[in-house]
Amino acid sequence: MTALSPLGVTPPQVKSLDEILPHEPLLMMGAGPVPIPERVAKANSVVINHLGSVMAQVIDQVKSMARYVFQTKSEWVLGVAGPASAAMEMAVANLLQKDERILCINNGFFSHRMAEMAARVGADVHELHVGTYEAADPERVRNAIEETRPKVVTLVQGETSNTVFNHTLEDIAKIAKSYGCLVVVDAVCTLSTMPLKMDEWQVDVVITGGQKGLSSIPGASLLAFSDEAWSAIKRRTQPTAQWCFDVQLAENFWHKDGYHYTAPVSGIMALHEALKLVCEETLEQRFARHLRCSKALQTGIEGMGLELFIASEARLNSVVGINIPQGLTANQICHHISDVYRVEIAGSFGQPIVRIGQMGEQCREHNLFRTLHALGSTMRDLGVKVDQPNGMAEMEAYLQRMPRTIAQMAQSVA
Ligand SMILES: *Cc1c(COP(=O)(O)O)cnc(C)c1O
Repeated sequence: MTALSPLGVTPPQVKSLDEILPHEPLLMMGAGPVPIPERVAKANSVVINHLGSVMAQVIDQVKSMARYVFQTKSEWVLGVAGPASAAMEMAVANLLQKDERILCINNGFFSHRMAEMAARVGADVHELHVGTYEAADPERVRNAIEETRPKVVTLVQGETSNTVFNHTLEDIAKIAKSYGCLVVVDAVCTLSTMPLKMDEWQVDVVITGGQKGLSSIPGASLLAFSDEAWSAIKRRTQPTAQWCFDVQLAENFWHKDGYHYTAPVSGIMALHEALKLVCEETLEQRFARHLRCSKALQTGIEGMGLELFIASEARLNSVVGINIPQGLTANQICHHISDVYRVEIAGSFGQPIVRIGQMGEQCREHNLFRTLHALGSTMRDLGVKVDQPNGMAEMEAYLQRMPRTIAQMAQSVA
């Protein structure tokens, strides 16, 4: 039975979203996107005039809260409609002109992405390859800088793909600055989950997305430029090739209440609320929560008899990588834990691991227990011998041992 259609076209018969979405929402414990707080979800339903005075006030607040989260006094905070990769592209494409040199510290999949972007703007790209299991070594970086003399050095704070933490970031940034380089840091999975002092560590650009540490939505991202990076962009002799990502056009919207393109209004509203929640919690308390939850989860995973992929020194807390037991695949594990226990975790890009995120709302005790239980049960269902009760008990014991708030921490030290 087809309706009479004067145009000769009929609309497709599709299911309703309710029919497509799972009846019970999945707990998002993968490598992003992460669960969003109710306030963020509500803000994300707002659409207002993107050039009105209300929007201008929202933008002002987003910038000032972002300065707190980036730990910078720099005026040059910007947003971009797009994934974190759009913010990465904005940094790389504006700082570099054709044939200018960049050194990318390559810890894996994501940190390599900036090299790909730089190649596309015609830059002279050099990469320093870091072993899979280790943080970048400052002295190796110094040697690479001496050899290549780049204008820009890029590195990732946490390499989400192999769960490595570049704990050497501060040293590396300072070394790179001493050679006059502009230092670009991808803090997409780490920002607001652990310290990153943009000004004090002399970082020139910090990049983040919405859907990870900040617990906002994917699709609206933020970045900050130092004065030095900003003036380097102002000195360009050629316009930035990508019109949408041109920082000097974006400045019209983000700093002059003018028009660039129609801003992602609801995404910015969501970011506003996510940043406000960070400010209310305070960075200190948020870092403590992330550390406590991630370490508790790691303790529980090991307590079950599973192995973590990265040794403790270079291990990222924001995303935890777990070795896949012999005979299983990441797909099997991820599908089972999702289908049976309604918990989403992630496979990986090229490593023999599954990954559990510890970013933003993922770092809540109730989420930890449900996730660890689901992981243990999944392993058991798939025929792996794990001591699930021991893992759960060790996680609980860790949480009991570690104070929940920084006030309690101060007390327990006193
Ligand atoms: C997720 C991630 C990205 C890419 O983010 P998109 O929003 O998918 O573009 C880049 N770098 C790191 C470290 C990430 O974790």
